[in-house]
Amino acid sequence: MENKTAPSTENVLRCDGCFTEIGTDYIYCTNCGYPIKGTAAEQAKFISQKNRIDVTAVELTQRVNKSINKAGRTLYYLSGLFILGGIIAFFKLKDDPDVLAVVIPYLILGVVFLLLGEYSKKHTLACFISGLCLYVIVQVLDLFQNPDLNLISFVIIALIIGFLIMGIKSAIEIEKIKKHNNIS
Ligand SMILES: [Zn+2]
Repeated sequence: MENKTAPSTENVLRCDGCFTEIGTDYIYCTNCGYPIKGTAAEQAKFISQKNRIDVTAVELTQRVNKSINKAGRTLYYLSGLFILGGIIAFFKLKDDPDVLAVVIPYLILGVVFLLLGEYSKKHTLACFISGLCLYVIVQVLDLFQNPDLNLISFVIIALIIGFLIMGIKSAIEIEKIKKHNNIS
């Protein structure tokens, strides 16, 4: 912001607000609205307002990124939980001929949720919806195999579904904020 009206050629000058080149016949910058022919006070006011808006945009982006990371961590925790569940099931049912039928779905869930956690940085909502669908499908299939569900399993399933629904909710919130503020 050195020279207020330094023209780079005869009929063009550089806007002090956004540094775009504009014709000298304009009163306001066509790009950012800076009052090129306004008083020094008007110009200073414009710049200070613009800086304030830039700061809030940065803060907002940071907040959105924080929520995205937090949501992603939920998927990682669930991934760890599934893998742990698979390992526990393996040791509990080691001598059962159906051991792999129980362990493999757990491990698949673990790996898929790990990938979802990774992708959720870019596609938070899609990842949570996919995670919820997959989890419900696996549980429904499991329910057909052993319909006698005990209370602890039921509570765990309900909690995981609850976490995924909460993730979907915050992902929708994140999308809304992003759309409103043109954050990509
Ligand atoms: Zn401008």
